[in-house]
Amino acid sequence: MATAPKSTSAANAAPRRQPARDIVDYELLFDCVHCGLCLESCPTYVVTRAEMDSPRGRIYLMKALADGAVALDADALRHLDLCLECRGCETACPSGVRYGKLIERAREYVNRNVRRPPLERLRNWLIASIFPYPERLKILLAPLRAIDRLGMRPLMRRLAPAGMRDWLDLIPPRAAAQPVIQAAAPAADSAPAAVVHHGCVARTLLEAENRNTEGALAAAGYRVVRMERTVCCGALDLHHGNFERAREFARANVRELGRHGGAAILSAASGCSAVLAAYGDLLAGDPEFAAAARAVSAQVADLSTLLLRRNFNFPRGFPAAVTYHDSCHLAHGLGVREEPRRLLRSIPGVELLEMNESDLCCGSAGSYNLTEPAMARELVRRKADNIAATGADYVVLGNPGCELQIAAELRRRGEKIRVMHLADFLALALSGADI
Ligand code: SF4
Ligand code: SF4
Repeated sequence: MATAPKSTSAANAAPRRQPARDIVDYELLFDCVHCGLCLESCPTYVVTRAEMDSPRGRIYLMKALADGAVALDADALRHLDLCLECRGCETACPSGVRYGKLIERAREYVNRNVRRPPLERLRNWLIASIFPYPERLKILLAPLRAIDRLGMRPLMRRLAPAGMRDWLDLIPPRAAAQPVIQAAAPAADSAPAAVVHHGCVARTLLEAENRNTEGALAAAGYRVVRMERTVCCGALDLHHGNFERAREFARANVRELGRHGGAAILSAASGCSAVLAAYGDLLAGDPEFAAAARAVSAQVADLSTLLLRRNFNFPRGFPAAVTYHDSCHLAHGLGVREEPRRLLRSIPGVELLEMNESDLCCGSAGSYNLTEPAMARELVRRKADNIAATGADYVVLGNPGCELQIAAELRRRGEKIRVMHLADFLALALSGADI
């Protein structure tokens, strides 16, 4: 594939030639020594082989925009839009380039300065107005649930416009009852505490992951603190450059999470965990919340690390061939790679089969699969090829977005490989069931 797949809606940026210094934190650009060692870790470069779709190319572009050497026209915007913010380049970079910070700021600049075409604006407004609010998402999904009950999803899919089919495929069919982890006894008050942020999309589509994350923590001896109220972590707004609302969400979560000082904080969605871990940076300029946000960030942990810390073990075996997909924000954002693998290997009977490119983005990336469906589809096809080549029966991962994306592609192919969140897989292994 030689050129970037086009977005479903064309960008319509107003050309701007004057220097745009505030498009990035300018000094951070100079950490890049242009060595190119990040190129093969970049999903968009791997697909297009175009320098401008690589981290190095985008860093050049941001500098050229900041200096006024190029205009922020539709072409420049296309290369910025196509970035998944997966941060694979950060892991690969020997110079410590903070690419995530660069692209987030560039997105915010674009959001403030570029007027998108009407259809793109409508799509982005729908995403921003519905996905962070579980109640709204449930209402939107209600007709689809009725169609599923009537067994009419295949017909609806055939009749839907091509652009809608990938969106429809992402919504899983009604799930069969799943095993749920039950702790043998409540933890003592002196036990270490953990609090699970339930997210928004995951809470609506994959709530079992939250329950099983809490169940696994409780079974490992943690005192699980139930949160009264959480709101979206702000990830979708950060992806779209809407810092203001991301900060509003962050403040609400910090207020709530701050009540549980000392507890480990996690989300079943590693993308959300990575955002919670970045609250310290996000609210650094807010005198009222900066200290509490830093404290929240410092408490963020991930499920596998917490379970290994308590020597979580499995009373029975579960013979299964499993491969593990590294969700971007867990691997590249939080640096957690080995712990989920160690946990899986500790289950008697589990054979862990490494897949090729396990840490290359699957194309989910927040709402990227909705806004950049062509590239997202290229990436998930590649991911499904790599999964199928392992011969595994299960692909385990740590992020609901990846689960929806990969499961949709495997269903389209008629593959029987099951895609499971780590917490759900632990529940299955503990139950010994084979559903
Ligand atoms: S964040 Fe991901 S898609 Fe964007 S430049 Fe880095 S590796 Fe490429
Ligand atoms: S981002 Fe890092 S790895 Fe990529 S070209 Fe720059 S210095 Fe090299």
